[in-house]
Amino acid sequence: MARYTGPVCRMCRREGEKLFLKGARCLSDKCSFNRRSYIPGEHGQGRKKVSEYGLQLREKQKLRRMYGILEAQFARYFVLAEKKRGITGENLLQFLETRLDNVVYRLQLASSRREARQMVRHGFFQVNGKKVNIPSYQVKAGDVIQLKEKALKSPHFKGILEDNNGQNIPEWLELDTNTWVGRVKNIPSREQIDVPIQEHLIVELYSR
Ligand code: SF4
Repeated sequence: MARYTGPVCRMCRREGEKLFLKGARCLSDKCSFNRRSYIPGEHGQGRKKVSEYGLQLREKQKLRRMYGILEAQFARYFVLAEKKRGITGENLLQFLETRLDNVVYRLQLASSRREARQMVRHGFFQVNGKKVNIPSYQVKAGDVIQLKEKALKSPHFKGILEDNNGQNIPEWLELDTNTWVGRVKNIPSREQIDVPIQEHLIVELYSR
């Protein structure tokens, strides 16, 4: 399964905002964006004017990078979003938000989507009682996400679970912090998806 392996903080600098891709580091003084918030590269501090196309492109890149999706897969999500009934931009966000790796991150069982993706691939989670190790797996309303026994014993998880009090979890999800079982209450509406994105710009980009 292909994934981006280049410098991560560079992506925040390129998009001009913090994308929170590195868990705890993003909230610490070590965050590169706090120290160098300009665009990377030789002309990074000189670029100012952005065309309409540039704005649309940046919005797409920002969303894609937030969820850690490569270009081709992102384009496939867009095709699915267009085919689905409803508003294309909202459909697109729903497809991204209901990926299993994102749900694990939203349940605060991982400190970043990258970490969540890795944990899913290592087989730490079950969905409705069955092992699922595909980060792009789409959850549905009513699905139950559970940590496997081996994860509960892992020292890495212990630290994560100690910090997780079940608060700040989006309202479309719920988590029992005694059993570490999460549930998808509903597919999130646009208002329930907390991403600072103007999705209409992405729809315009793909409609060119
Ligand atoms: Fe972005 Fe986090 Fe790196 Fe800061 S530490 S630049 S928020 S990925």
